[in-house]
Amino acid sequence: MSESHAPLDTPQAGACAPEELVLRHAGVISAQRDRGELEVAFVHAVQDVLLATSAQLYRVFTPKGDCLAGLVAKADLSGRYCLDDGLSWPANTASIEHFPALHRSLTSGNSIVVPAGTTGNNSLHEQVFPIVREGNVFFGFAVIRQAAPLDARQQGIVLGLIRLFCNQLRLLDYSEIDTLTGLLNRKTFDESLLRILSSLQENDAGAGSNVLHLPRRRHGADAEDSHWLAVIDIDHFKTINDTYGHLIGDEVLLMIANMMKTSFRAHDKLFRFGGEEFVVVLKPTEARNAMNIFERFRRQVEAHEFPQVGHLTISTGFARIGINDLPSAIIDNADEALYWAKHHGRNQVFSYEDLVSEGHVQRRIVETNSVELF
Ligand code: GH3
Ligand code: MG
Ligand code: MG
Repeated sequence: MSESHAPLDTPQAGACAPEELVLRHAGVISAQRDRGELEVAFVHAVQDVLLATSAQLYRVFTPKGDCLAGLVAKADLSGRYCLDDGLSWPANTASIEHFPALHRSLTSGNSIVVPAGTTGNNSLHEQVFPIVREGNVFFGFAVIRQAAPLDARQQGIVLGLIRLFCNQLRLLDYSEIDTLTGLLNRKTFDESLLRILSSLQENDAGAGSNVLHLPRRRHGADAEDSHWLAVIDIDHFKTINDTYGHLIGDEVLLMIANMMKTSFRAHDKLFRFGGEEFVVVLKPTEARNAMNIFERFRRQVEAHEFPQVGHLTISTGFARIGINDLPSAIIDNADEALYWAKHHGRNQVFSYEDLVSEGHVQRRIVETNSVELF
């Protein structure tokens, strides 16, 4: 992430009256359009307004029934840190049981106070606030450490900032999600792909910003593994609309989207790209695994009995997301593989890289000096 993504303003305690400081931070929080930066703006607000030693934000992840917690942002006297790249869990992610105070807060649903001295040599008081979003969805925890316990006024400020943070998250969700399918929308896709590319380049070169971005965990990934982008298109979808009507067509789109949500993993990103086209961005893995994952989804769709419509199929083309690739070239590559699938019988998955190495398509030469992102 670049410097321009940092909070718009950086209020500082001591420079203004307490009410003004809270309002300035509220202004910064409500201006955030990026989740990572919103998380940092939130912990910075809590730490700065309370003059706390530190404020941390943990997120809860629940893959396949497990309950994990990971530190995504923190602010302390040395600075602000972002550990959330929006792509993978932070490096410190572990079972919630490894964080006893968080675990107690989760199971009780209440704020937990850990007095100074009760956790070994710790001279600071710690207070854990559960963060529960609309619809009773558990987001995670705010953890504040300081020399004295939080008084009622300070607790009220933290609760108010949590509410503001959750409201801003809801606005971000709303702007990122496709209303029919609940998948991420096209606008979010453009941003996500740029984010993946800049994160690959940052990892390669090491990048600077006034918010420090700490390392993330790449689950089981080797250095050679790549992200993969697939374009999935329903076969003969026009006939489905023509035969059963647009409403049933929409129902099919929704069902396919729901199947995608269960077939792909928590860190794979799922988008509705346009009408009846979907895009999947796979977290880093080998080419062979990518093929197996897309092939598995193709078979699931083929086997599914859709109400009224019966059976239908999808075609998939996918391509590697290379560190120096332009976003438009990656999509064109996946599209080329999809086009191949459509012209070779449909209901198939093709990899652009395989088609190139087998001599079926020619590798595109990209003019990197005429950079045009989308
Ligand atoms: P192909 O196998 O070549 O993909 O054939 P196709 O009929 O699926 O062709 P194509 O992908 O070009 O067709 C897209 C059709 O999808 C056209 C339009 O009627 C339909 N469509 C696009 N958006 C929507 C939508 O939001 N809802 C519904 N019900 N249909 C849509
Ligand atoms: Mg189409
Ligand atoms: Mg189609």
